[in-house]
Amino acid sequence: MKSKFKIIFGVLIVFIIGVISGKYLIDPNVNSFLMSTVNAQDSNLISPTLANPDRDMYFPGTEDLKPDEMRITALGTGQPSVRPKQAAACFLVELGNGDKFLFDLGSGSHERIAAQKIPYDYIDKVFLSHLHVDHFGDLASFWLGGTVMNRLVPLRIWGPSGDTPDMGTKYSLEKMQEMYKWDVKTRSGFVDFRGGALEINEFQYEAVNKVIYEENGVVIKTFPAIHSLNGAVSFILEWNDMTFVYGGDTFPNKWYIEYAKGADFAIHESFLPATLLVTKQGFTPSEAVNVGTQAHTSPEQFGKVMSVVKPRMAVAYHFYNDFDTQPEVLQRIRKTYDGEVSLAIDYMVWNVTKEGIKTRMAAKDEDVWPSPAMRDKVSPSGVEGAPFTDFILSGRVPFPEVVQPIYDEINDKHGTNLKPD
Ligand SMILES: [Zn+2]
Ligand SMILES: [Zn+2]
Repeated sequence: MKSKFKIIFGVLIVFIIGVISGKYLIDPNVNSFLMSTVNAQDSNLISPTLANPDRDMYFPGTEDLKPDEMRITALGTGQPSVRPKQAAACFLVELGNGDKFLFDLGSGSHERIAAQKIPYDYIDKVFLSHLHVDHFGDLASFWLGGTVMNRLVPLRIWGPSGDTPDMGTKYSLEKMQEMYKWDVKTRSGFVDFRGGALEINEFQYEAVNKVIYEENGVVIKTFPAIHSLNGAVSFILEWNDMTFVYGGDTFPNKWYIEYAKGADFAIHESFLPATLLVTKQGFTPSEAVNVGTQAHTSPEQFGKVMSVVKPRMAVAYHFYNDFDTQPEVLQRIRKTYDGEVSLAIDYMVWNVTKEGIKTRMAAKDEDVWPSPAMRDKVSPSGVEGAPFTDFILSGRVPFPEVVQPIYDEINDKHGTNLKPD
């Protein structure tokens, strides 16, 4: 009797579930999600299974640059002491004609350059605003690291002179080559080392609005900056009737105000307010006003400069940009400037055309690999690599029983006939 009751009860439950489900599927209100999915497919609207063509984020390596478009990516925007969120000064400019330029290559910026998925051969032009480590501290890493990543063209660098030869870019980079002699010698003769060559172009720091680069429809000019010692500059890039200005570190100066005027895109330093240098960075009041308003440019001074320059987009960088500093920096800029402004942070991206400027953030991919060169390698034969010394040979434990099978595997797979040293 008990089991018969169970069966009747079970049938009743199934019946009730069936009635409720039926109502759910028939009721137009309850069923609106299902209907909208069907309509979306019918009318080719975006569905959750199709790519959204209008992304509000930039994914490096996935977006064609239009022929008339300039894309600028902030790869270092912080202060001299780098931190995970902000490397030191570095901006990448990409043009619709295929050209790419780096303006400064400060400490910590190399990893952000690598994350842009640009083959190393195609990022070989670097313009240095001055020789502070926060503006070229990752140059050696980019130069020699690039040879391992198969950059097969020389690295071309433009930088200012100083008052004496030993204060200029040429001297500094020649010494850098000497400093890395051991590194260079370990690679020469073993890898295609064409990317190990440096093309150093030093120009006069006093030059005003002078062309230092002119190729492929792109003109780059230099003008002086006022910062610490003679030998700091800023740059103007002109292409396709658009003007990009990169201000290196500077006190507000007459050349920036004159030659950046009316630029489409104008970058200028803006240091942290002196108040925050005291409370957050432990500066004394005297250090804070000296560094924050005399050696560098305060947000109020930045705004004053931009109120005269009137660019389509003003970009402030060179400060720790956080939830608690940004409101104060912006409020101080707004005392003196009411135009378009971006408070730059690493991975901020601007697409600039004559019609408009689109500002987004780039996606950060911690797992990204640096992109190898696209050109074919050449054999390094003909260049003599440093031979193993007796000391190295005396210390080697070769483990042939595990190494030989690795060679066999590679030879089998690739039709080679390689042998261990
Ligand atoms: Zn500096
Ligand atoms: Zn700096």
